[in-house]
Amino acid sequence: SSKEQGRNRYQWFTSSMDDMVIEKVNIETSIRKCLANDEFILHYQPKINLETGATYGVEALIRMPSYENGLIPPSSFIPLAEETGLIVSIGKWVLDTACKQNKAWQDKGFAPLRISVNISARQFLQEDIVEQVRQTLNDSGLEPKWLELELTESIIMRDLEDTAEKLQQLKKMGITISIDDFGTGFSSLSYLKNSPVDILKIDQSFLKCIDENDDTNEAIVRAIISLGQSLQMNVIAEGVETEGQLRFLKAEQCNSAQGYLFGVPCDAQAFGEFLKSKKQWFEFK
Ligand code: C2E
Ligand code: MG
Ligand code: MG
Ligand code: MG
Repeated sequence: SSKEQGRNRYQWFTSSMDDMVIEKVNIETSIRKCLANDEFILHYQPKINLETGATYGVEALIRMPSYENGLIPPSSFIPLAEETGLIVSIGKWVLDTACKQNKAWQDKGFAPLRISVNISARQFLQEDIVEQVRQTLNDSGLEPKWLELELTESIIMRDLEDTAEKLQQLKKMGITISIDDFGTGFSSLSYLKNSPVDILKIDQSFLKCIDENDDTNEAIVRAIISLGQSLQMNVIAEGVETEGQLRFLKAEQCNSAQGYLFGVPCDAQAFGEFLKSKKQWFEFK
């Protein structure tokens, strides 16, 4: 009967809500456990200069290990970490670990790279974020010019005055600032004109179908590259997977690129091997 169906639907609905709550509690428990036991992992992905073919940078990307499900991607726990405030502790751990790892690679004699760290909204809203970054650099011994912070448009556009002040201070220290997922948010172009932002990171969604002659995406990518040129900012494309995309980006004079074509994110040891093997030099035809 329809009454029964209604009840079933209702039961189905409540039990699914329960599942979601349980799932959230599980993730939160895992996050706390990983923080307490120092079990989070960073993976590293190279960034390539499209003029020289050299690896000039590396992005740190967090992973959460779990017994049942292997490495959990950030999309499955960063939103909850933001909601609960745990992102503040995670963020400190990421910044600290990335800076120390980068310094360790430099101390091993590898050509110095700029390491980039993703900063979330709640993390950047902390009053002492600039001081935290300064302290972390001091503790690790890494020079500020080898650190880049990746922020999204929504973070940068949120509280313009407060943000601008923080960005200016970070910039004065010698840190590089980039806008991640550029083109998916609501950047004010008049704000960008006078902002301390150094780099626009074209969102990977715009790279899709570029090698299949997707006119709209091609136009967007071209527009972002030329915006960067006008604002005297460098432009990097993320999510580059094919030779066709690479050819397009080189023809359009995009400064740099990142994606599976050059290297999938891997752990610190594997990335060290990559640097040792000289595979970090790419030759373009
Ligand atoms: P993002 O910063 O835009 O990072 C790029 C994402 O694209 C990464 O996913 C990376 O593994 C993936 N990727 C790289 N090359 C390719 C490619 O050629 N094709 C495709 N399809 N994907 C590619 P990941 O590692 O799962 O990270 C997802 C997002 O989680 C990041 O997006 C970033 O917003 C966030 N995130 C990662 N690590 C951290 C962190 O330490 N702190 C914070 N707050 N957020 C983080
Ligand atoms: Mg990023
Ligand atoms: Mg991105
Ligand atoms: Mg993204």
